[in-house]
Amino acid sequence: MNHASLSPGRGVGEGGLACTVCGKAFRTKNALLDHTKVHWGKTECELCGKVFSTEGNKKRHRAQVHGLDSEEQD
Ligand SMILES: [Zn+2]
Ligand SMILES: [Zn+2]
Repeated sequence: MNHASLSPGRGVGEGGLACTVCGKAFRTKNALLDHTKVHWGKTECELCGKVFSTEGNKKRHRAQVHGLDSEEQD
């Protein structure tokens, strides 16, 4: 009999990191940490570092201050 076929560690991601809130997987810790801000209700403008309580506020700020009016600038 072979009872060594069960491999532990199956599940979230392959060598990656998963958000504990929504389960979304990320390749780097920084990416995960950046993502988790959306669950904290805080988000930071990557252009000037100002912190906002919602993604919507940040997007509005980016549109007004930085002239970025598209939904997802990258
Ligand atoms: Zn998440
Ligand atoms: Zn800004």
